[in-house]
Amino acid sequence: MVVQQGSLFGAPEGRYVQVALDTPVRREFSYLLPPQQDGREDPVPGCRVRVPFGSRSAIGVVVGVDGELPSGVDPHRVRPITEVLDEQPLLTPALLRLARQMAEDTFCSWGRALAAMLPLALRHDRPRRTIPVVEVEADAVTEDIRSELENKQPKQARALAVLEQAGGPMEMREFYNRTGLSRSPLTSLEKKGLVRFGRKQEFIDPFAGREVARDQPPQLVPEQQAAVDAVREALAAEVHQDFLLFGITGSGKTEVYLHALETALAAGRGGIVLVPEIALTPQTVARFRARCGDVAVLHSGLTDAERHDQWRAIREGRLRVVVGARSALFAPMPNLGVIVVDEEHESSFKQETAPRYHAREIARERARLEGAVCILGSATPSLESWAAAQPQQAGTAEEGSRTPMRLLPLRERVGGGRLPHIEVVDLREQKPEKGHWMVMAPPLQQALAETLARKERAILFLNQRGFAPAWHCRTCGGSVHCPTCDVALTYHRWRKKALCHYCMREEPPPAVCTHCRGKVELVGIGTERAEESVQHLFPNARMARMDRDTMLRRESYEEVLDAFGRGDIDILLGTQMVAKGLDFPEVTLVGVLNADTALHHPDFRASERCFNLISQVAGRAGRSSRGGRVVVQSWMPEHAAITAAVRHDYIGFAAKELEERRLFRFPPFGQVLRLTLESQDRARVEAMSLEIATALRDAGHDAGFLSRPPSMNDGLIILGPSLPPVEKLRGRIRRQIMVKGSRRALQAIHGVLGTASERQGVTIDPL
Ligand code: ADP
Ligand code: ZN
Repeated sequence: MVVQQGSLFGAPEGRYVQVALDTPVRREFSYLLPPQQDGREDPVPGCRVRVPFGSRSAIGVVVGVDGELPSGVDPHRVRPITEVLDEQPLLTPALLRLARQMAEDTFCSWGRALAAMLPLALRHDRPRRTIPVVEVEADAVTEDIRSELENKQPKQARALAVLEQAGGPMEMREFYNRTGLSRSPLTSLEKKGLVRFGRKQEFIDPFAGREVARDQPPQLVPEQQAAVDAVREALAAEVHQDFLLFGITGSGKTEVYLHALETALAAGRGGIVLVPEIALTPQTVARFRARCGDVAVLHSGLTDAERHDQWRAIREGRLRVVVGARSALFAPMPNLGVIVVDEEHESSFKQETAPRYHAREIARERARLEGAVCILGSATPSLESWAAAQPQQAGTAEEGSRTPMRLLPLRERVGGGRLPHIEVVDLREQKPEKGHWMVMAPPLQQALAETLARKERAILFLNQRGFAPAWHCRTCGGSVHCPTCDVALTYHRWRKKALCHYCMREEPPPAVCTHCRGKVELVGIGTERAEESVQHLFPNARMARMDRDTMLRRESYEEVLDAFGRGDIDILLGTQMVAKGLDFPEVTLVGVLNADTALHHPDFRASERCFNLISQVAGRAGRSSRGGRVVVQSWMPEHAAITAAVRHDYIGFAAKELEERRLFRFPPFGQVLRLTLESQDRARVEAMSLEIATALRDAGHDAGFLSRPPSMNDGLIILGPSLPPVEKLRGRIRRQIMVKGSRRALQAIHGVLGTASERQGVTIDPL
């Protein structure tokens, strides 16, 4: 309905609504409500409206309808809303409140938090029915053209190379993400007749296509039964309860989720299941379809229109179970009974753009608001969840502020399978072959040879893509950096280019050191180099590499997994993509080529990540009676994260790690905020960071949380400004300030943080 604007301007006595807009400014905006028209209802909170905002028009969400203008707002400056876009609110009252809370916790505006909940399609008003794609024009590209572009138009050359590598129509969105390029090189290529834009007319839904037969639940093992009983009890009582389902890989966690969902459905309530994006495979979805019938799958391949339809179907109660990645958490499910977060320790549940929320925390919050049950499942729970489920764990930041989480353990693999034996190879004791970087030391080579001889399958994991992660200078010892970022360039051999993994910039491989013009050499191993080396050792093995360079299209991922499942591939080598969620009983060997990569990050969670990664990837082996073995190569095998992972000792690891966290007040014993400040101008960023750090210290001092000089007992620690690990990114100079403290202490300086968050070049990230 379009409002006639003229008739409204003379009516300052009209009714007002509050609208939350997707802007950095952390407040809501007042607009005039149009007079009621032909029996239509007024918009209620949760409806989207189009409004004038500055010189443009914007879509926002109605959050207040009390009709009054907030004091201080000049009624003559209030403009009317242009159009009401929804007759029924798209967002439930619980979701509105959840967004508000999320905005508070992550220092963004209510409108920005709401925008993050809505599918992109609903942030605009005309949902697209198709997905734009781009592909190489068949037979148009010759060697001559390629080398000419390479010399004269490197960006076009790069765009073309990526499309050729993709081997089919690539989604534009994907293209932008992967290359960091704009549309313009593609437009130039199109003019030359080398590429073609198109649209994926109908999305071939890999999830809908498969017939899924209903299956019968298996007889639960006693621990599964105990877990299901506990969840059922909470559901029957219709009270909020958080559970931590702590089950080793292969212990049948999914079966517990399924029973919980069935119970909720039987009571007329709905369920949401969050899985890491990478685990959102047809394999996973089929298991939920088989038991829960019609399941909405919210995945990144949907067109805007499909997403829109699904949202409405969920909102209207026609679809009662949703499976999806992080953002499925915001599905507008009425009468929600269960939220499941599978693999809750996964870092992909943390959103890295505003609002910087963690889905695990928001899931608990939503369950609380809705009186629902939240089940967090993992073989290696986050230390936050683990601590929350230990009644004796005193002193955590959230202590007292939440209902305690209940621990549900699953200690055995179902069917009596055992966790695989893990052996460690100390790379320091291995002699590299002459002139070669050692990808596999003899023990792993031998294990792989035996596996292949038995016609079984192997997974090799390396958390580093490209050919080699850096060039080192033999004269000055420096490494070759990206011209606009303070980051070493990675060599990607398929492009014969040096790539910055931060800004995606591509450079010709350096001939000499950029600092001293000395001779440079490639150091380290990436998946490209590993693939070459393994193939060289086992020329007859059928290999596939799975990383961001080979998986340029969604379809490629499914194809490779299908081929691996059928036995057309013997060795699957890749990054994180091969570590998560894969359930192939024929895999009897897992090799971790370098367990240490995760340990080199300057991050208080580095050990935890390393432990998780080894445990998860090891869990891919030995899922059948044939058993399995895991070989882990490491340069520092005595590291606690590695020794504990080898013993499958999560509990011991967690206890030790928590002690350390307690000592340094890291989560869960305190909250940590990382402020990143950036500007092209060094002087400006230095002045700004000092100013903000001072304001924070003053506020902390005034609130009695900081003494001068600061002591450890004050409950608030402000570090910096200091240099972040990456000092320069995309040409902008960066500084950081770390803030650590109890919930109460951070509350005391919340106002200062909020004001800082609205400034240009400032981001606040709750870690
Ligand atoms: P997890 O998620 O804990 O790694 P899954 O839920 O994937 O484990 O279960 C591993 C395998 O065991 C699956 O193939 C599943 O179908 C099977 N399974 C689970 N529970 C039972 C049970 N009670 N009886 C028989 N098989 C089961
Ligand atoms: Zn860069």
